Order: sequence, then structure tokens, then C-alpha cells
Amino acid sequence: WSTLEKDADWLGFVGGRCLDALDDSLFRGGYLSSGSPPQGQRPRVVVLGSGWGANAVLSQLKNAACDVTVVSPRNYFLFTPMLAGAALGTLEPRSIIEPIREANPTATYFEAEATAIDTVSKVVTCESVVCEGVSCELRDFEVPYDLLVVAVGASTNTFGVKGVKEHCLFMKQLSDAIAFREQLGYAFEQASLPGLSEEQRREKLTFVVIGAGPTGVELCGELRDFVAQDVPRLYEDLQRFVRVVLLEASDKVLMAFDGDLQEAALQKLRSDEQGIAIDVRLSAGVREVTEEEVLLSDGSSIRYALSLWAAGIGTLDFVRRTAEALPAQAAHADEARGRLAVDSWLRVAGAPGVFAFGDCAHVVGSPYPATAQVASQAGTYLGRLVADGYDFGGGDGPPKLTPGAPGERTLRHGLSSLARSKEGLAPPFTFLNLGILAYVGKSEALVQIAVGGDEGGKKVKGAGEAGFALWRSVYLSKQYGLRNRILVAVDWAKARVFGRDLSRL
Ligand code: FAD
Repeated sequence: WSTLEKDADWLGFVGGRCLDALDDSLFRGGYLSSGSPPQGQRPRVVVLGSGWGANAVLSQLKNAACDVTVVSPRNYFLFTPMLAGAALGTLEPRSIIEPIREANPTATYFEAEATAIDTVSKVVTCESVVCEGVSCELRDFEVPYDLLVVAVGASTNTFGVKGVKEHCLFMKQLSDAIAFREQLGYAFEQASLPGLSEEQRREKLTFVVIGAGPTGVELCGELRDFVAQDVPRLYEDLQRFVRVVLLEASDKVLMAFDGDLQEAALQKLRSDEQGIAIDVRLSAGVREVTEEEVLLSDGSSIRYALSLWAAGIGTLDFVRRTAEALPAQAAHADEARGRLAVDSWLRVAGAPGVFAFGDCAHVVGSPYPATAQVASQAGTYLGRLVADGYDFGGGDGPPKLTPGAPGERTLRHGLSSLARSKEGLAPPFTFLNLGILAYVGKSEALVQIAVGGDEGGKKVKGAGEAGFALWRSVYLSKQYGLRNRILVAVDWAKARVFGRDLSRL
């Protein structure tokens, strides 16, 4: 599926590049009339975020005739599907990030968080943390926009379970993977100390993962690989004390997969072929997490050394506040659940010139899953609309291609993969589900690919080593550049030949 996307990108790229050169000057009048810049100035496009969605927009705007500003507290793009690998030392943290300035070298970047949007004066208020020595201060500043792209992602949802925020680790940011790696190393060092009983060693090596979605399952798979392949070499005799418990409140693992693949995942996780089985417990709701124990709703408890919460995604305060401040959002509040409600062209209801997509948005009438695939396809779509020169000022109807804009030329040459409408009207965003993959450990992965999309398409399914080969090749090809591809490939080879290294630095 990555090849399909790349072909489309390539065609767009060739068409866009050749014709952009001819048409660049045409942009100077400003096509983005929903908030046109003063005459003679280039439109100001402000992108909030540096994740999957933002990165896809930025790639499309590389050659567009607009001034792009990026605001994000993180100055790099993070390849989230590989966080579990980074947490277990299969990959090095720096191999799965790309500096955001490289995604679009002509964009201006500010390391800051957006805190408010004034949709009337078209200004974003941002807050950065400026540190000098040991003292830090918050500094506010404003960034004006003609078009604003909100791709700030989501937060972790703890569902109000007591003690989760205080005692659990999470797996959302690179710092989470680094913290997990540190604490795992610490747990093994503690369990290696002399004078401990067998029971004490078992407790110090009990790892509890809460949530059996892709993050929880993949982390357990990587953890099992580490315990099977590296623990006997690094911590002789400790393997028999290791216990990995995967807790899931529902009666299924990996909800997004079909039933037969869920069953295959369960079997693979529970099999003890490598000397370590994952203790998967279904219908096991967590009531509370204390400093030493995970308390379950059936009254039982598990003493742990390390607990990881991978059980849900929530809405960022900034997104919730922005949605609440816009009266037009109220009509969609029930289905959007705190996220920004957008129409099929990703326009935020009640905020002309503002777009949102990815984990922070809800497309009214088409609830898409919160995945990198959706965010990245939506970012590519919107980036291309902007670069092609669609006019977003025409009210609720589809954006129209501005006469003479780069997109009109590419359309005429039949090269644009996006603009198919003869009238020059932008087609609505539709998500093409290219399939899902999940690593379950032991060099095996689940694969569920929808050839031809969800509707009317054919499903290709599998679980095993062939799936693992596909999983690796897809993730390798999805890396943003050659540098990351090489780093990831070298890390995999290094882990295979020399083993993983969890030394705490
Ligand atoms: P993100 O990628 O989360 O990016 C949000 C960006 O906004 C970040 O740069 C953040 O720093 C920035 N930001 C936050 N607040 C602000 C603010 N106030 N102002 C400015 N910037 C802000 N999906 C898949 O499809 N396949 C997978 O295999 C997969 N595996 C995953 C594994 C893990 C461990 C995790 C955590 C997620 C995984 N996902 C996967 C889900 C996927 O990562 C998300 O759906 C995707 O990141 C959403 O993209 P986004 O652009 O909406 O947000």
C-alpha cells in the first residue's frame, strides 16, 4: 500500500513541480480568499503540530507559493508505530524521528504550544518555554494566519482511573519510550541484587501492560523478544522470574482486526515457545493503580515493577477549548466528543480558514479511526488542495480551483491525482483503508489488507513470519527519508547480531 501512495505522490510531484515553476507568479495575488492576505503578499499558512498529519501537509507545501509557519512543542516528526521497538532497544530513539525543519526547509518553525485561536482576527496565541540556566519562563506570542491547519493529535485517556497518571508509564512520545527503557533496565538491575528471595525477584520482574490495542500488544511482543533473546545473555538465570501481564477490559484483543486474527494474536501471545508466555487477561478492568499494585475490578491485584497504560486516547485541552469557543461546533458536540468537528473538506465548522484532521478532528458523518494512515492521507489531501490553489472562500460548497492556479494546469495535463472534477471543484476527503498490521513478537505479525478499499474490496489476511517481513518492509518504506531508512535497517541488523542493549546512561 505504501507503493500505491508513493505512485500517486510521484505523479502529483512531477505534475506539481513542472507546472509550479510556470505558475508560481500566479499565486502572488493570493488564492486563499477565505482570509486573503493584503494585496501582493503571499498567503500565510500556519500549521499546528509536527506529527503524522502536519508532516504530510508540510511535504505537500514544499514548493507552494505561500509562507508556511509551523508551531509545535516538538521539533521533530515521530514515527509512532516504532515506539515499542525504541522502548525495548530494538531501535535507537533517534532513528525514528525526523527534524521537522527537513520536512519543509522553507517553513519557519517555532518550538511552542498553541494555546488559543482567535478565529475573528485570525491569530493563534502560542506559548513557549524559554530557559536560561536553571530558570525557565513562559513566553507568549501571536502568529497571524490566512489559513490555519490544526493537526495537534490527541492526549492519553486514563478514563479517570485513580493512580494511572501518577504510577503508570505511557507510550505516546519518544520520552515515554526512553523512560520505559530506563525503568526496564532498572528493574533487571534491582532483581539481580544479592539477598533477594525468589518471590521478591518475581515481583521486581513483573511487568503489567494495560490495554490490548496495537500499542499494548506490540509492546508485549517486543518485551517478549527481549526476554527470550537477550535476558539469558545479559541476566543469566533471571528469565524464569519474568512475568508479563496484558490486561484488557473488553473480551477481545486488537479490536480493529477480524475475529480470526484476534484469535491468532491471542494464541501467539499466550504460547510459551520461547520460554515466556504473555499472561493475557480479558474482561479485566483496572479499578486503581497504586505505587506497588494494579487493582482489578474483580477484587484481585497484581504487584508490579513497571506498569504501562496503553488503554485509550483522549482530547487535548487546547482542542476542547477551541471547539467549545465556536458556537457552530455545538451541533456536532455529541459525535465529535471534544474534538473539532470538520466537514468533508476538513474545514472546521464555524471557523472560516481553519482546517483540522487526524486525532484531533472528527469528520462529520464519516468517523475515521484515529490512525497515522488517516492523519497522513488527510494531510496530503489538504496540502495538495492548498498547493494546487483551491479557493476556500466560497462558503459551504466545495472549494473551487482558482483560474490559472497550479492545480488547474495539472488538471488540464491530467497529472493531478487529486483534482478529478471537471468543474474544478475539490472532491471531498475520503480515507482509503490500505490495511492494518500488528507485531506480536517472535518475528510474527498480523496482516489485514483491504485490497481496493473497505467497500467492495478484497481482504488479504495472514499471521506469521510472512506478515513480519511485510510489516518490516512497509515500515521501512514509510520512513520519511533515506537517512531514517538506513538508521532503522542498521538498528535491526545490530539487534539481531549483537542483541539489544538496555544499559542506563
Ligand atoms: P500526532 O502524530 O500525535 O501529532 C501531533 C503533533 O501536535 C505533535 O507534534 C505534538 O507535539 C503537536 N502538538 C500537541 N499539542 C500542540 C499544541 N497545543 N500546539 C501545537 N502543536 C501541538 N497508527 C497507525 O496507523 N498505525 C500504527 O501502527 C500505529 N501505531 C501506533 C503506535 C503508538 C505507540 C502510538 C502512540 C500510536 C500509533 N498509531 C498508529 C496512531 C498514530 O500515531 C496517530 O493516529 C497519529 O499520530 C495521529 O496523527 P496526528 O497528526 O493527528 O497527531
